[in-house]
Amino acid sequence: MIQITMPLGFLGTVYREIRQSLVDMGEMFGLLSQPAEIVDRPDAAELKVAGGAIVFDDVRFAYEPSRPILKGISLEVGAGQRVALVGHSGSGKSTIGRLLFRFYDVTGGAIRIDGQDLREVTQESLHRAIGVVPQDTVLFNDTVYYNIAYGRPGATREEVEAAARAAKIHDFILSLPEGYETTVGERGLKLSGGEKQRVGIARTLLKDPPILVLDEATSALDTQTERDIQESLREMGQGRTVVTIAHRLSTIADSDLIVVMEEGRILERGTHEALLEAGGRYAAMWARQSAEEEEALAAE
Ligand code: ATP
Repeated sequence: MIQITMPLGFLGTVYREIRQSLVDMGEMFGLLSQPAEIVDRPDAAELKVAGGAIVFDDVRFAYEPSRPILKGISLEVGAGQRVALVGHSGSGKSTIGRLLFRFYDVTGGAIRIDGQDLREVTQESLHRAIGVVPQDTVLFNDTVYYNIAYGRPGATREEVEAAARAAKIHDFILSLPEGYETTVGERGLKLSGGEKQRVGIARTLLKDPPILVLDEATSALDTQTERDIQESLREMGQGRTVVTIAHRLSTIADSDLIVVMEEGRILERGTHEALLEAGGRYAAMWARQSAEEEEALAAE
């Protein structure tokens, strides 16, 4: 009996995890359709991350051959640097995130992490190296413990709780009716958006990836909860290479590099100060968002 149920139980878990990770990734990348099936090369090696430096080398990409989306993106993100992608809706920011995760292969050029072409490494090792924090964390209908532990199969109870503490959600979890064993998700206890995000942060802290892709929420609300979450995301970024798909400039102004995208090309790049100085598109976007934020504050 045991011989039969164990593998089945295992398969159930695997199925659930695969389905869930597709949900997470789908949510994060706002996929319109299933990605093309990417297969490891027979001689694919494990990705070896030294510092997590990322290079986009004249990257070209099209979802459909007749419609180029990325038209030659060259970008270097040093190990441990924080880069923010900004630009109009549809300019290609999320597509860059999807390619980094190798949801699709580039149609021209190459993407390399610490010198290794993504097409030459196993997807398993690539996915282990990249943590994705989506706009909305999707929770399993399972215990809050399971929801965090999912970040790293095999993690110990101490490690799970340490991640929850670092994500500032441990005390809240202890206050739940059954603590870490409380069922959350659609069919369990409903958590607030901020609490869900903290579970997602704990999950990613447990995974401890050298590279982070943050998909910033689009909402313009600037509540204390959001500021606290921003602070936690910032702390999580310490010592990692961070790519932020940004919608609000105020949260990414201190990035090492800001990249302004337009129609699949890089229009401008530099630090916040350099881009303001240049008086181009970024400076105009900044002036507009600052005025909007002031208006919102005045209306409060
Ligand atoms: P936003 O700020 O709205 O998230 P974005 O800058 O992230 O926008 P992308 O999501 O990268 O933009 O989309 C770039 C272009 O690619 C858009 O024109 C979009 O319609 C197109 N696109 C995105 N996903 C697909 C897909 N799966 N199939 C075909 N076209 C797609």
